[in-house]
Amino acid sequence: MADQANPFESLQAQLDAATEYVDVRPDVLERLKHPERILETTLSVELDDGSIELFRAFRSQFNGDRGPYKGGIRYHPGVTRDEVKALSGWMTYKCAVVDIPYGGAKGGIDVDPQQYSESELERLTRSFAVELRPIIGENQDIPAPDVNTGQQEMNWIKDTYETLENTTAPGVITGKAIDSGGSAGRVEATGRSVMLAAREVFEWLGSDLSDATVAVQGYGNAGSTAARLIDAAGGTVVAVSDSSGGIYNTNGLDTDAVATTKRETGAVTDHEAPEQLGNEELLTLDVDLLIPAALENAIDESLARDVRADVIVEAANGPLTPGADRVLTEKGVYVVPDILANAGGVTVSYFEWVQNRQRFSWTEQRVNDELERVITEAFDGLIEAYETDGTPSLRTAAYAVAIQRVVDAYTQGGNWP
Ligand code: NAD
Repeated sequence: MADQANPFESLQAQLDAATEYVDVRPDVLERLKHPERILETTLSVELDDGSIELFRAFRSQFNGDRGPYKGGIRYHPGVTRDEVKALSGWMTYKCAVVDIPYGGAKGGIDVDPQQYSESELERLTRSFAVELRPIIGENQDIPAPDVNTGQQEMNWIKDTYETLENTTAPGVITGKAIDSGGSAGRVEATGRSVMLAAREVFEWLGSDLSDATVAVQGYGNAGSTAARLIDAAGGTVVAVSDSSGGIYNTNGLDTDAVATTKRETGAVTDHEAPEQLGNEELLTLDVDLLIPAALENAIDESLARDVRADVIVEAANGPLTPGADRVLTEKGVYVVPDILANAGGVTVSYFEWVQNRQRFSWTEQRVNDELERVITEAFDGLIEAYETDGTPSLRTAAYAVAIQRVVDAYTQGGNWP
């Protein structure tokens, strides 16, 4: 079982590791290690039986030097202030590494959404939107989906905000349904960038994704899309898992069929496969590529010693503890970090926001082409930093590039008031 590293401490350790490769004063760097503002609130929501239940909710606005705060909202039991702070920091450096004009934010509600009816979730979401209203906006802070939230929650937040503000502001939130101002390609965007990052890293290493065997932990939005696109690109997805467990087929799984089973029954293990396997077994399979696409801290230091994959592309945010990261770096495993690999979601969110501001819709092809450009350029920049600066890992190179961009924007603006 993975240790529960404090994700905020993980973020700070990652920033510290990159410091020596960045031209930054220590006091400026210190400022860039802490959120600028956190909203912590208790939502009182009426349940269907008329009783009131309280829910703890957070929004962390980490840094706004490069543009409006940007980041998802997750619904998950046990969401903590430190988790949201860390995720908001990762968003800051994610937007910077792919060079889109946003700062970073993240929100969360401590709730298990499966325990509540749709009308209860609507009241919960609208209640959070009311609390968020003073600090969000098309030019201030733009939330988006994350774990256990999707188009429906985004549509409710947009509607609540627009009603209270007596305006139309589709760009106040991204990840909306198409008819509510969403973008073509948004649902698949995170998985698509994971596939693109995998393709690029294999090419850089002188091989080809189409020759790779792949294991994917987590078969939700990010994991299942990455698996299906890698499958379509010729890779062999031999194992996938979700919270029910994993399935394994050395000849490759039919990733579309697994997604259909998951949609119908909620569990990949209901899909017929030659072998079932546990979560840790999946993470230590002898594959070319491992994609953690579930939650933070999936791989800790001790599990990392048993990892046999040559390459890890992080679809989830923070899936490796700092100890795991150190062990994998020592073992020579190439890890394409979350802040680049899963940046497709926020990049297409940015395209959605641009389309909302323009009151103009792009075709899915245009969205996918622009996403490919952003991710491949970011990957090239990362490799240039890795090869030029001699950073110990791709993650450190990514942070060095990203921190430098945030530092430059901050320094150019100056420290005021
Ligand atoms: P999701 O809720 O759609 O899917 C999560 C999946 O992980 C589910 O299949 C769940 O069963 C599985 N899971 C949970 N615990 C597990 C465990 N212990 N072992 C194996 N599987 C487990 O969420 P998502 O949107 O796909 O997000 C997954 C990760 O990707 C998160 O870290 C999220 O922050 C990150 N991410 C998502 C997006 C996006 O646009 N969806 C963007 C950037 C980053």
